Amino acid sequence: VRAEQYRGMGAAEFFYRNKEIAGFGNPTRAIYQTVRELVENSLDATEVHKIPPKIVVQVEAVDPDKNIYRVTVDDNGIGIPPDKAPYAFGRVLYSSKYVARQTRGMYGLGVKMAVLYGQMTVGKPTLVITSPRGSKFTYRFKVKVNVKTNEPEVPEKGEWPKSGDWHGTRVSIELVGDWRRARTKILEYIKRTAIIAPYADITIITPEGILVRYPRKTYEMPEPPKEAKPHPKGIDIEALRQIIDKSKAKTLKQLLITEFQSIGPKTASVLLKRAGLEPDLNPKTLTDDQLKALVDAFHSYEKFRPPSPEPLSPIGAELIKIGLKSVLKPEFVEAVTRRPSAYGGHPFIVEVGIAYGGEIPPADQPVLYRYANKIPLLYDEKSDVAWKVVGETIDWSNYKVSFPAPLVVLVHIASTKVPYKGVGKESVMEVPEIEREIRLAVQEVARKLKRYLTKKEKEEELQKKVIT
Ligand code: ADP
Ligand code: MG
Repeated sequence: VRAEQYRGMGAAEFFYRNKEIAGFGNPTRAIYQTVRELVENSLDATEVHKIPPKIVVQVEAVDPDKNIYRVTVDDNGIGIPPDKAPYAFGRVLYSSKYVARQTRGMYGLGVKMAVLYGQMTVGKPTLVITSPRGSKFTYRFKVKVNVKTNEPEVPEKGEWPKSGDWHGTRVSIELVGDWRRARTKILEYIKRTAIIAPYADITIITPEGILVRYPRKTYEMPEPPKEAKPHPKGIDIEALRQIIDKSKAKTLKQLLITEFQSIGPKTASVLLKRAGLEPDLNPKTLTDDQLKALVDAFHSYEKFRPPSPEPLSPIGAELIKIGLKSVLKPEFVEAVTRRPSAYGGHPFIVEVGIAYGGEIPPADQPVLYRYANKIPLLYDEKSDVAWKVVGETIDWSNYKVSFPAPLVVLVHIASTKVPYKGVGKESVMEVPEIEREIRLAVQEVARKLKRYLTKKEKEEELQKKVIT
């Protein structure tokens, strides 16, 4: 018999072999996910930096018989520095978003999956044209991912002087995709993105040459998220090790005070005592057992302040109402942003909006619009915590809604760590703290809907009396 062959596998090869876990399982999902990853990167590159987004998505049929499409997304974002661009598009798990603040991206994976999918189905590299804010040049790259080494391959690049003050990025990927199957979902995705970002100007041009535009409704934008130090409750042993590696703190006590939220000198002393560690130990010398003792002390301490909501960027009730009103044209709209909450050391905020009547068609169930960090989630609805609340727990007859009814419920979860069920980021786990916040928020807005419907009912009765 032949001896076993052993070898390691890099990140690029792993995701190449397991595309479905990142949402690239078949040609329908792949083209949907490509649009999504590009649009999300464009939104991160604009709104996180207070730039009112202007985004154009174009899907072209390159060879419809072979299902070859080109997806191009153009934005007015901050651009990408030329020395970083090849890695941003050509190395799996490379990101500028590995920091504690709310963004749409988080794994450093999305766009590389699209690049990989394009190169494995059509064979061409991805075209990136970018100009960073303040740069005097526009840069152009063709990029591929080397599956074996996870190094970017750049078969072509160039630069030219820039006239005017354009900045932004344009990414173009050719792939085999099933546009006809994905079409409805993609258009729905763009529509829901426009609802949650009424300060964005978003256009999509389809292969049939149809142009759908969601013009900007307001220049009001949510406060961008701020970076925050980690909260001790959200830390595990590995995370602690990494913080120690990067820290300049000379003593343990200093480390706790400078690198974490809600630890001052007093709390630091209490924690170190609990862990049985000397305050002036050099953090870099901690043994595995000592690291574990410190993390245990973090987790068992009851008196931390809750994690800071500063790294979160909720949209706000006003913008939700503007978005729902302008796109759905309902007769009633209300929204609420809950106060910050936390699970396992991670801050989160739940926002809920309800739109009712008007141009919304009646349906047998509430129509749920789920969002996580402003990303519309369109797949796996029934396994999402928001569906559990809106579709299964809430008794809508308590709020005077009887189905079929024209009811849309928007649920947005903003967090530095959304507990997704998979890296495809399609549904959110049933974390009790989050479920509770969703329920309270839905109930709060639903009570307003009930008040409205009651008033309307009375007015209608009055009308009848007047007539008879
Ligand atoms: P993630 O979005 O999770 O960070 P991606 O693979 O989608 O991972 O993107 C990698 C990085 O490339 C991003 O973190 C960002 O720095 C950069 N990037 C991608 N698209 C754009 C864009 N349109 N404008 C500016 N930067 C971008
Ligand atoms: Mg991304």
